[in-house]
Amino acid sequence: MLLKNCRIVKDGKIIDGDILIENGRIKKIAKDIKGGDEVIDIKNSIVIPGVIDAHVHFRWGEEKKEDFLSGSLAAINGGVCFAIDMPNNKPPITTKELFYKKLEDCKKNSKINIFLNFGVTERNYFENIEDAKAYKIFMVKSVGDLYIEDYSKLKDILNQNKLFCIHAEHKDVIDENLKKYSLKSWIDHCKIRDEKSEVEAVKEVIKYLKIIDKLGDKKPHVHFCHISTKEALHLIKKAKQDLKNVKISVEATPHHIYLNKDMAEELKGFGKFNPPLREKEDNIALIKGIVNEDVDIVASDHAPHLLEDKIKDVKNCPSGIPGVETIVPLTLNLVNKKLITLFDAVRVLSENPAKIFKINNKIEEGNLANLTIVDLKKEGKINAELFKSKAKFSPFDKWEIKGFPIYTVVNGKVYEAYGKVYERWPYVHLHCN
Ligand SMILES: [Zn+2]
Repeated sequence: MLLKNCRIVKDGKIIDGDILIENGRIKKIAKDIKGGDEVIDIKNSIVIPGVIDAHVHFRWGEEKKEDFLSGSLAAINGGVCFAIDMPNNKPPITTKELFYKKLEDCKKNSKINIFLNFGVTERNYFENIEDAKAYKIFMVKSVGDLYIEDYSKLKDILNQNKLFCIHAEHKDVIDENLKKYSLKSWIDHCKIRDEKSEVEAVKEVIKYLKIIDKLGDKKPHVHFCHISTKEALHLIKKAKQDLKNVKISVEATPHHIYLNKDMAEELKGFGKFNPPLREKEDNIALIKGIVNEDVDIVASDHAPHLLEDKIKDVKNCPSGIPGVETIVPLTLNLVNKKLITLFDAVRVLSENPAKIFKINNKIEEGNLANLTIVDLKKEGKINAELFKSKAKFSPFDKWEIKGFPIYTVVNGKVYEAYGKVYERWPYVHLHCN
């Protein structure tokens, strides 16, 4: 396979050239390469290192909502080559046995590169899982015992040479709010899981990280998932500067970047997720955070549900929305709005997740070809009906967007993104439209 006329984003520069792919690997990057059993003219579109969505829920065991096949086809459609799947399955992935059972099923059915996180409980936190990408900590109730209820345990849990992904919402703050508000309107959901719940949870984690940093015998990395408030972002920025032995990174989602409380009643269930909608100033802080590198990565928190459940009233509507098919266009749209640069987009979608989660997506000769090819000028509407995800809805449905992925290359296989998904190599067509 020969990709002609690529504009390759590499090491903060754009290089013009062709990419020759053989046996799944990048054989050669140069100008005017001849040959290749099949040729695609990229027509000077941008080629970036394969996008990594570091936060997805492909719902292993709940195949009505999603499975590894549908989730990975959705990823391909959205220009995503790698995904990291979360452990809040039913039952939760909190034992080695379940982890490897899930991994086996994942390898069998996924069309992209998927990695799994292991779920941390108050009992299993010394467990080492060689193949786990990271260890996920929930500070609020998730599934079963996948939840740290006694926060004082965080001191021991986090004092390990591991990469932890933390869902930071403070259970006590939420419990207090539940006494004040009942869940009657969509905005009540935001009031119950308010800004303070995130800020206090982040403070709690940083408090223990300071102790661990002083001890200095372990070097954990704490990755804060879906940070949604200006204040939490500020607190983490300060902790990043202060701590020497502890690494910290921050993730933000497109829905927290684009949507806010003013839209809650209009969005109804499609605006219900955790952490919830925040203020407009938080949207702005997250965008600024991408530019000044306080936000390290953008991930989708792809959390599919049945449409019939998402259109229920606020009490019965589950939290979470699909996102793996909109993360790339929504981030490119920020570039076209001149809010961030193309290099910012590549940093948060490809380069930083690769560094944090140790994934090799570099566009280099000899590496597996994992590429996201994007047309920055392509304009169109998000159409949730055409999603490959089983969750065919989105708060961004019908939004006019500029900037779309056009091809997703996964381990040398070239797929057409956005609209049609089919395999061109090794000449097997997946009739999944
Ligand atoms: Zn999540």
